[in-house]
Amino acid sequence: MDTFDQNHIWHPYAKIPSPIKAHKVLSAEGVYLNLEGDKRVVDGMSSWWSAIHGYNHPTLNQALTTQLSKMSHVMFGGLTHDPAIELAKTLVDITPENLSEVFFTDSGSVAVEAALKMALQYWHNKGQAEKHKFITIRGGYHGDTFGAMSVCDPDNGMHHLFSGVLPQHFFAKSPSMVSMDEALADLENTLKAHSKHIAAMILEPVVQGAGGMRIYNPQYLTKAKALCQQHQVLFILDEIATGFGRTGELFTLEYVDVEPDILCLGKALTGGYMTLAATLTTDEISQGVGTLMHGPTFMANPLACSVANASIELLLNSPWQDNIADIETILSSELFSLRAHNKVADVRILGAIGVVELNQEMDMEKVQNLLIEKGVWLRPYGKLLYTMPPFIINKQELLLITKAIKAVIEEL
Ligand code: PMP
Repeated sequence: MDTFDQNHIWHPYAKIPSPIKAHKVLSAEGVYLNLEGDKRVVDGMSSWWSAIHGYNHPTLNQALTTQLSKMSHVMFGGLTHDPAIELAKTLVDITPENLSEVFFTDSGSVAVEAALKMALQYWHNKGQAEKHKFITIRGGYHGDTFGAMSVCDPDNGMHHLFSGVLPQHFFAKSPSMVSMDEALADLENTLKAHSKHIAAMILEPVVQGAGGMRIYNPQYLTKAKALCQQHQVLFILDEIATGFGRTGELFTLEYVDVEPDILCLGKALTGGYMTLAATLTTDEISQGVGTLMHGPTFMANPLACSVANASIELLLNSPWQDNIADIETILSSELFSLRAHNKVADVRILGAIGVVELNQEMDMEKVQNLLIEKGVWLRPYGKLLYTMPPFIINKQELLLITKAIKAVIEEL
């Protein structure tokens, strides 16, 4: 514990001084975080969905040191480099057929900003500047920058805080909260009434992450895409959290083979080593967009691109589908029985994601300390106690997590 940290450094969604002390990590290896005070915990969070291969991986370390000896960064304006070219080729290769153009950014939120800008510029250049609104579904999360915030859930997002500043968009019912038919009817009605003002629909495919860890029927994607097409609304998928195997498919859109007009990737793109994201689109849209008015200083950072190349190769050469299936089997057999527990409202599992929703909000500090005592790192929030572990986790380590979740629920 560090008092300077507590009194002077902002942590995510926290205040200064923080009422909850942050745990200091001294090193990390495989699925383990080594905390100050000789505590070793299994990381059930993969550093917010990203560290899919675990920490301190020799292959990823090597990719970084090799690139470091050449150059760590150069501007991307007027210059280019092999790590970015290789990565762009790979991303085009492994994502749906129609996506062929890549825009690199330095975080997921900015990848979403770039996606929203692409959609706005596309319609603007087509002489339809009045298409400047977005539509999304309730319960979503797309990042903390202003454009991204404006398409996050209007109730649990930051809309109330920034009302008057955030642009107003359209929020359709979510198939994770109402039946798919009801959600589609709501989407269709909104599109019928307002599509002349709507540039694009944006949504997280199948798993709504930080907005509530909810899961919905993939068939919704096919039908929502068809409605968008019918109403001349672009279709943006945000796979920043779900991409690179997390749900059991390399990309969650593969559940129904839906082709988005724009796709956002991030988080696990670099195996959780460095901050990098990408926004992919079609040739037709890139031509329509013309000059995209965006260009971050650290765009396509060579270190980040190199480690992303190594991470994707490592993933594709590993039995990742078997690993995810094994994780899903264990999460299901260990956690589904909690549905009968009187403190539990719901249990949701897909791929390497296990979510237990309690009936009441938890005391985060208390729960976290209990979990650490049991050798586990999770970041509960609100009523949600959930895990999305590194794909390399073994059965014994995963059981440590599920047992800790069950024990903590008893101790609350
Ligand atoms: N979209 C989704 C679906 C996310 O889960 C997140 C991050 N939790 C973001 C966008 C924003 O990414 P970043 O935190 O890298 O800005």
